[in-house]
Amino acid sequence: MSAISAPTVNDVLFDKIAAMGHEQVVFCHDEKTGLRAIIAIHNTVLGPALGGTRMWQYASDADAILDALRLSEGMTYKAAVAGLNLGGGKAVILGDPRKDKSEAFFRRYGKFVDSLGGKYITAEDVGTSKMDMEYIAMETEHVSGLPEHKGGSGDPSPVTAYGVFMGVKASAKKVYGNDNLSGKKVMVQGAGNVGRYLIDNLMKEGAVVYVSDIFEDQIQKVTSAHPSVKVIAPADVYSVDMDIYAPCALGATLNDETIPQLRCAIVAGGANNQLKDTDKHMRMLMDRGILYAPDFVINAGGLINVYSELEGYNRQNALSKTEHIYDQTLAIFEAAQNEGISTLEASVRIARRRIEAIANIKTRW
Ligand code: NAD
Repeated sequence: MSAISAPTVNDVLFDKIAAMGHEQVVFCHDEKTGLRAIIAIHNTVLGPALGGTRMWQYASDADAILDALRLSEGMTYKAAVAGLNLGGGKAVILGDPRKDKSEAFFRRYGKFVDSLGGKYITAEDVGTSKMDMEYIAMETEHVSGLPEHKGGSGDPSPVTAYGVFMGVKASAKKVYGNDNLSGKKVMVQGAGNVGRYLIDNLMKEGAVVYVSDIFEDQIQKVTSAHPSVKVIAPADVYSVDMDIYAPCALGATLNDETIPQLRCAIVAGGANNQLKDTDKHMRMLMDRGILYAPDFVINAGGLINVYSELEGYNRQNALSKTEHIYDQTLAIFEAAQNEGISTLEASVRIARRRIEAIANIKTRW
């Protein structure tokens, strides 16, 4: 992904957008509701740009723009590698999700989404909820991930976790020559939605699971279902003697401080944007001989789930498609080895090649 700094007043925004390859960036403003949003459409060669709407109090407008640009680019690669006919997009709403929400606010935002005529399809993300999506859906059909009672696909987390599990198994196959996780020590950081479902899968396979969370009630949900799971203090996560580190909390946990502490052979988890500085920290993992399963490859189950909703939802189909993450992860490891590049670079190359190939077919039409 492009290493690009936050735009400043001295920068030309168009140059930034061109450098990252975005097709369209839409600034939405509504005085009456106080809505300020940015919808970034990175690439629509494969299909409509699908990506969640994040609501966050950004330190500056430039930070909000950069977040929208980066996240939408990431969605392009995630969809392309997963073999979906979707492009990459993402939206950010500038505001406090605890204070600035109202029905009118999200319905006005829904009208902006609708004005793009289906080029951008939205979904839930950090700071937005199912209720917000229901308000958006009152003004546009271009919203996904609605609750099951509204005909949607419901909570994507079990499918995301299943895909992460496939990625963990593929990584074990690469490192140990066998994908059976029985007896393998797996450190799951974050006992949230994805982390808990991942632990269910790991326990079924006989892995030795460690868990960490900053909230006691989250930990208890795990230990009451699986009493043998060992609890690790948040500060000790990186230095635990483990085979596999599965980050399932926040991003940027792979950084200058943590990578030297790691005592594992594999990093494979569900959290988005795990590498704090993409190129530098990828290189540090390689130098330490740790295999990295790129986050956007193995956490694509949620996107696959939402995509299935667009085709007429069936959870079994979504899970079957998610199972391909196993083969795709192995193909990426293979390509990285053959081409002498990082697993991250290999994933982005595979994504770009697919987009290029399909773009050729489309222009020939
Ligand atoms: P969640 O909010 O349900 O869970 C996150 C958990 O991490 C919480 O229990 C939180 O207390 C814990 N946590 C936060 N900081 C921590 C720390 N320093 N140490 C240990 N635990 C910490 O979120 P989720 O839906 O499970 O998503 C987890 C990650 O996966 C996020 O990065 C998210 O962006 C990514 N992701 C989720 C999905 C999905 O379908 N839910 C899809 C793709 C990617």
